[in-house]
Amino acid sequence: MTLVKTSRDSGLKRRRFLVGAGVTAGAGALACHLPLNVIQPATAADPVPARPTTEVKHTVCSHCSVGCSVEAVVSNGVWIRQEAAFDSPINMGAHCAKGASVREHGFGEHRLRYPMKLVNGKYERITWDQAVNEIGDRLLKLREQSGPDALMVIGSSKHSNEQSYLLRKWVSMWGSNNCDHQARICHSTTVAGVAQTYGYGAMTNSFNDLHYSKAVLFIGSNPAEAHPISMLHFLHAKELGAKMIVVDPRFTRTARFAHHYVRIRPGTDIAFVWGMLWHIFNNGWEDKEYIAARTYGMDDVRKEVAKWTPDKVSDVTGVPEASVRMAAEMLATNKPSSVVWCMGITQHHVGTANVRALSILQLALGNIGVRGGGANIYRGHDNVQGATDVGPNGESLPGYYGIAEGAWKHFATVWGVDYDWVKSRFGSKELMEKPGITVSRWFDAVLEDNQYVDQPTNLRAVFYWGHAPNSQTRLPDMKAAMQKLDFMVVIDPYPSMTAAMHGRSDGVYLLPAASQFETQGSVTASNRSIQWRERVIQPLFECKTDHEIMYLFAKKLGFGEQLVKNIKVVNNEPVIEDILREINRSCWTIGYTGCSPERLKLHMEHKRDFNPTTMRAESGPCKGDYYGLPWPCWGTPEMKHPGTPILYDLHKPVAEGGLPFRANWGVEHNGEPLLAADGSFTKDSEIDTGYPEFDHVFLKKLGWWAELTPEEQVQAEGKNWKTDLSGGIIRVAIAHGCAPYGNARARCNVWNFPDPVPTHREPLVTPRRDLVAKYPTYDDKAAFWRLPTLYKSVQAVDFSKDYPLIMTSGRLVEYEGGGEETRSNPWLAELQQNMFCEVNPEDAAQIGVKLGEFMWVETPTGARLKLMAMVTPRVPVGLVWMPFHFGGWWMGEDLEKHYPEGGAPAVRGEAVNTGWTYGYDAVTMMQETKVSLCRLVRA
Ligand code: SF4
Repeated sequence: MTLVKTSRDSGLKRRRFLVGAGVTAGAGALACHLPLNVIQPATAADPVPARPTTEVKHTVCSHCSVGCSVEAVVSNGVWIRQEAAFDSPINMGAHCAKGASVREHGFGEHRLRYPMKLVNGKYERITWDQAVNEIGDRLLKLREQSGPDALMVIGSSKHSNEQSYLLRKWVSMWGSNNCDHQARICHSTTVAGVAQTYGYGAMTNSFNDLHYSKAVLFIGSNPAEAHPISMLHFLHAKELGAKMIVVDPRFTRTARFAHHYVRIRPGTDIAFVWGMLWHIFNNGWEDKEYIAARTYGMDDVRKEVAKWTPDKVSDVTGVPEASVRMAAEMLATNKPSSVVWCMGITQHHVGTANVRALSILQLALGNIGVRGGGANIYRGHDNVQGATDVGPNGESLPGYYGIAEGAWKHFATVWGVDYDWVKSRFGSKELMEKPGITVSRWFDAVLEDNQYVDQPTNLRAVFYWGHAPNSQTRLPDMKAAMQKLDFMVVIDPYPSMTAAMHGRSDGVYLLPAASQFETQGSVTASNRSIQWRERVIQPLFECKTDHEIMYLFAKKLGFGEQLVKNIKVVNNEPVIEDILREINRSCWTIGYTGCSPERLKLHMEHKRDFNPTTMRAESGPCKGDYYGLPWPCWGTPEMKHPGTPILYDLHKPVAEGGLPFRANWGVEHNGEPLLAADGSFTKDSEIDTGYPEFDHVFLKKLGWWAELTPEEQVQAEGKNWKTDLSGGIIRVAIAHGCAPYGNARARCNVWNFPDPVPTHREPLVTPRRDLVAKYPTYDDKAAFWRLPTLYKSVQAVDFSKDYPLIMTSGRLVEYEGGGEETRSNPWLAELQQNMFCEVNPEDAAQIGVKLGEFMWVETPTGARLKLMAMVTPRVPVGLVWMPFHFGGWWMGEDLEKHYPEGGAPAVRGEAVNTGWTYGYDAVTMMQETKVSLCRLVRA
């Protein structure tokens, strides 16, 4: 095998030369050519030649949310080597292929090098000044003509917490909620589903906590490829005897380790989970005490589950009764047991309902809030959790504060600006409080007739700020929208497929952003641990950090001063530590307040002191803390809260990481109590029953108000624990052993959702037409996230005769996300050089295609994808599987010539999303990427 050739392989690269030549060889060669009269005898003042300065920078892998540490060895500003951080409690010296090759980003063979503009179909170099002024002028004109909502800003789950926060602030001060990022299309359904059930939208335990599990159900999750180092922790549990159940339509690399593998028909997860619960309830395996004390609405679930008798479950899911029962028994009788899910669960038009069914399953078994249990939701990008927590979400300000007037006032105070000034930036107060357009649908907001778009104008410009377009479905529609825009801007270390797919001859700008290794800041792993990344190298070429670019544009657009009111700026770069301190002062809701830059840096420096099973520091300056202060890390940094390693764990005091379920929905519903039962409370709590969230009134009623300092009382008056900027209410509540957010029951019935109890609904594009009438989808919606959204009218069309195969998609170990970065990395590109489609031998025989031959995958949208056949029994008859990281081809054509010179990734291929069909979750607008139909044609 030879290394994949890149278009920039010829010629000696400056950095490689510096490293490869070395000082000694260079000095020797130079000495030969010195004239004799400059050669002087050595003196004591100059004993040895200067040696390069070598230092180790501590950073975090940029390719998934496991959060593996990387030790980058830097010599004279050149990144020369990397080590896998043996003292990190997360990766303990291990890396997968992606993590082991991150140093390549420090060389940037395929990176954007300077700002560019598309002129007559060719990218031309421009200066930063020209770029900021020209784009800025166009934005100001757009704003004047159509208002601020004519712009869509698609942010990144790869931005640090500070950059994500600053981008949400930037969009707010521009005057819009039209911002979004990757989480919309990977785990928005998880966030909504678990938050509405338990209280917070995040993984409950940690990868390390799996050491305690006695059984784990992996459903719609393939961590052996998607989160490889997380498997280190699970396999440790397996060695100790933990049972492993894998539910997936495809026999994955994870399934290979399973004690029990269940092959399920895609899109039938709720029926399967209810099938498991049917056996659990029928055998009395549920935790009755836990259900009675800590849940609301389980009886409604029992009624729905009773309908899912084994015969019905088998008919709908394709799983034999014995197999469903075995999965249920393994999980229920080997406790504590954990459930792990990923995009096989979330990326469906019923994604939020899927998530809730699994959340309920864990409540029925009493597995939430216990060591070795939990709902463990592995996220995909390095900071997708953090960007969700504090970043550019169209329905919320940082910290899940929402966008109602109170939330805007809270942030206006924190930002040091007038609420009325912020309001004046928006088209109207109504638009200020209306959720924005999502990344999954932005192109519909360009193409749709304006009378159906729930804002004054269509979108006219888009910023793709660190986001891959090929990670979104319906690419032909996106391409049509790109052509209709006034202009679009790509801000990214790599050109991304956006640069090549649009088919325009002008109106496209490419701005080179620094990578994660060329800046510093904090990043939140999937388990809520926050890690500090040091800057490894200075930005390459003419790249700038994202926060500098935000500041430059804010200055040009007239709100530079407001953007950084409380933040120092050095050489146009807002100081990252100051941004984090602003997050610390504002995001009380999720406890991003105790994690000061100083505490996070100390954790990174003393990783070795943390126990890899408990994640707690056993010695050293962080003693007692949990690694990365997993949020909520309550109160001010001075309170020294240790972080919360397991959510909703009653066994510890709140001050030491314990928590009940959150009281977020009132005290009762339909006459049933929503607060926890008597006797259900966190260790050492002075209130021994359920209680509501803390505010100034409750504190006074309890007689605890006097425990606030006089200064705190001034700030806390009229406020609750989320809006009291002194942090006093939180401090006093925790001093009495109570959770600031109250002590409630988890909700099995979420009455404000389309399906209060999750209900199986057939996929929109399904081969089982016989089930459509019995399990229909939702009615079409007129205005949902500002757009009409179709359900029944899509499902009404029968595509199954012309497109007989089920199509699904997933992740590979070699690549990540849209894949542009990793497919530009020659070490990874070497490993997986072709886009392919897995097809069962029987289906391959039908069209006469053999392993390695090309074939067309045709879908109901009219799209055709040319890909290599991977003939394998991993997939069942009637189903094909494709990875989603490829891009750079368009229905058979290689787009290489459309990229800026030298910027095309080393490996290109068809994007599976070119062919994907319509479908969106009924709560979050998550796109459907796991069930559709296609047919195969030999190429
Ligand atoms: Fe670790 Fe994920 Fe990076 Fe692999 S991609 S090294 S599992 S953080």
